[in-house]
Amino acid sequence: MLLSFVQGLYIIAGVLFILSLAGLSKQTTARMGNIAGMVGMALALVATIIHSLSMSAEDPAHRQSVLVTGLLIAAVLAIGAVIGTPIARRVEMTQMPELIAAFHSFVGMAAVLVGFNSFAAPEGTGGAVHLVEVALGVLIGAYTFTGSVVAYLKLSAKMSSKPLTLPGRNLLNLAGIAVFFVLMAWFVAVAETNVGLGWVLVIAMALIGFALGFHMVAAIGGGDMPVVVSMLNSYSGWAAAAAGFMLGNNLLIITGSLVGSSGAILSYIMCKAMNRSFVSVILGGFGSEGGTIAVTSGEEQGEHREIDAATAADLLWNAKSVIITPGYGMAVAKAQYPVADLTSKLRAHGVDVRFGVHPVAGRLPGHMNVLLAEAHVPYDIVLEMDEINDDFAGTDVVLVIGANDTVNPAALDDPSSPIAGMPVLEVWKADNVIVFKRSMATGYAGVQNPLFFKENTQMLFGDAKERVEDIIKSLG
Ligand code: NDP
Repeated sequence: MLLSFVQGLYIIAGVLFILSLAGLSKQTTARMGNIAGMVGMALALVATIIHSLSMSAEDPAHRQSVLVTGLLIAAVLAIGAVIGTPIARRVEMTQMPELIAAFHSFVGMAAVLVGFNSFAAPEGTGGAVHLVEVALGVLIGAYTFTGSVVAYLKLSAKMSSKPLTLPGRNLLNLAGIAVFFVLMAWFVAVAETNVGLGWVLVIAMALIGFALGFHMVAAIGGGDMPVVVSMLNSYSGWAAAAAGFMLGNNLLIITGSLVGSSGAILSYIMCKAMNRSFVSVILGGFGSEGGTIAVTSGEEQGEHREIDAATAADLLWNAKSVIITPGYGMAVAKAQYPVADLTSKLRAHGVDVRFGVHPVAGRLPGHMNVLLAEAHVPYDIVLEMDEINDDFAGTDVVLVIGANDTVNPAALDDPSSPIAGMPVLEVWKADNVIVFKRSMATGYAGVQNPLFFKENTQMLFGDAKERVEDIIKSLG
């Protein structure tokens, strides 16, 4: 009876997670999607707690008493809340990607620990199928753990975003995977009769997973990091699904598969947007094959011109059409609010203002859309790169606010550039381009941007928020 109730709650939670994903696919329904996800997660937690307590009550000989189980669950929830709440409150929007990467690493480590635990479970090892689940769960979990830690270090600039290019790295990866399958076969053959050897093998498989995760993500260059973030999101889902199989928990299998497949679809979409092959990014470092990382990429490439806020304001006031292309710097400066204000003032004056958003602008998928929505910029003037790229040619003024790699013409003109082949916003085709940034420094991919030295480009140096506010003051 209680079990059916728990399974019922699991099904409702699963349906809510699916509704959540459906809701999150559009800005207008995203809030509803978030609420569905939160309610689903609350139900899942309640169901899991009831399930654990009922299992303790049914089989007290092998498990702890209901009270001890309850106290353990309460302690774990309390520790999570005490650590998680201040982190979530403190984190800046610009730090979200690294926080997400760090959280993925916990899912990976949880799958490894569940794997170890279910091998050590007092019920015995549970047959060949279970042993395969343990081996795969430990591998995926370990890979997700170190991969996510490296992604966290790269995204928070604690580690260079340059790809680690060991000689024969693809062979190393293949050898690692081949050794894993040999160890897994050995593990399945001996683990039930020789538990000691089983432990040696399961730990060896975890070590292979840790090494592969580190190596494959370290081999991916700065420009390809968006795909890595979504790929690790997908792996963390598969790690959770693997844990679900090991624990016999259907909801974990459903949730893990939803996260795993939606992450994989997102990675595929991002690969297409960046003109990268899905397989080569999964294998890591293929995008930078052939030593194409430009060594002199940070050097300046000629003279640049500067503009002040008052002149920029004049240009905007007299323009018929304006396109704003935001990037990571807008997020750092929190410039979205004055940008929204500037937009409404110009539109009230009759200027046609639109936004062009590159799929990998910022540091996480949809980053710019979230910021613009937060500042109440109307959705219908926020266009995707493909929708707006042909319109730059007839545009009077483009404001590049804290974007760099996503507006870099070298991606199209220079085959030796690390971002070669990535479609970019072709802002240089407009009559006037004003670039907001603090210096001539490079963007995330570490390459200089020839846009800054074009004749129709002018640099407006300083913090993007302050400069946009200066422009607003000088309008009209
Ligand atoms: P970039 O990271 O290329 O450039 C951001 C620019 O903003 C810098 O040149 C910086 O110049 C400027 N900037 C920083 N702070 C400020 C400030 N306070 N005021 C004004 N300007 C500022 O940005 P893009 O959005 O164009 O490109 C995103 C990059 O990040 C791509 O390479 C993408 O591959 C990568 N990436 C994207 C992820 C995603 O999912 N979207 C995830 C991981 C990586 P200065 O220092 O001179 O001010």
